[in-house]
Amino acid sequence: MRDFSSDRQWLALNTVTVKSWSLEQAIDGCARAGITAIAPWRDIVQRCGVERAAKLLRASGLTITCLCRGGMFTAADEPGRRAAIDDNRRAIDEAAAIGAGSLILVVGGLPPGSKDLVGAHRQVRDGIAAVLPHARAAAVPLAIEPLHPMTAADRACVNTLAHANDLCEELGEGVGVAIDAYHVWWDPDLPRQVARSAGRILSYHVCDWLVPTRDLVFDRGMPGDGIIDLPRLRGLVEDAGYAGHCDVEILSAENWWKRDPDEVVRICIERHQSVV
Ligand code: ZN
Repeated sequence: MRDFSSDRQWLALNTVTVKSWSLEQAIDGCARAGITAIAPWRDIVQRCGVERAAKLLRASGLTITCLCRGGMFTAADEPGRRAAIDDNRRAIDEAAAIGAGSLILVVGGLPPGSKDLVGAHRQVRDGIAAVLPHARAAAVPLAIEPLHPMTAADRACVNTLAHANDLCEELGEGVGVAIDAYHVWWDPDLPRQVARSAGRILSYHVCDWLVPTRDLVFDRGMPGDGIIDLPRLRGLVEDAGYAGHCDVEILSAENWWKRDPDEVVRICIERHQSVV
């Protein structure tokens, strides 16, 4: 396993961790902190303007680990599904423009009012298949991120790495997985499924699971503040051949989003070196 004790080279700042910053501010903040990689979200890239964002990111010399996020393929009707596919093609173009290593897919949950989970799974598979030729042509790998099962209804109905691996094997070249510690830590099948992901782990995200968790989306912890055995998980991921960045991705409405972003970044670096 790589020694991170004096490392910041393999730390990537996911911009949602410093939610109050614009893209320009996040780029400057990374420079101040000596961070060399970033994972921007689409909203701040769009606010900056995609062309200008691409120019600023290129000039910064930052590695763009991934763009967050595409997906949300499930919808109640055909026009809704088509709109999602169009939006994913735009997301692929944005990822290509900024030179992102992959486009993260949060695949979508049950359509409003639906109980048809099997149908939702099918919509996800068909949606990814529909945008895959565009992604291949743009050389943007699609990273399916399984989300914790608590999000199956409203955010993502792919909830295990096993399911994501199945989709990768069905869909073929150009599709891989994003492994987020927050979403997969609980899975007893994890060692086997991470090993099975070898060669297609496109992105690795870290934060921590707090006890108790007070919000299903916006109460993620700083690495080291919760109960996830992060070194064990990174060991599994690296044993599967992953040698890329650890993206620190913390959605935290009541704590970290209220703090000074420079302080948050400083603590991210400390924890990256001590507990990730
Ligand atoms: Zn993530």
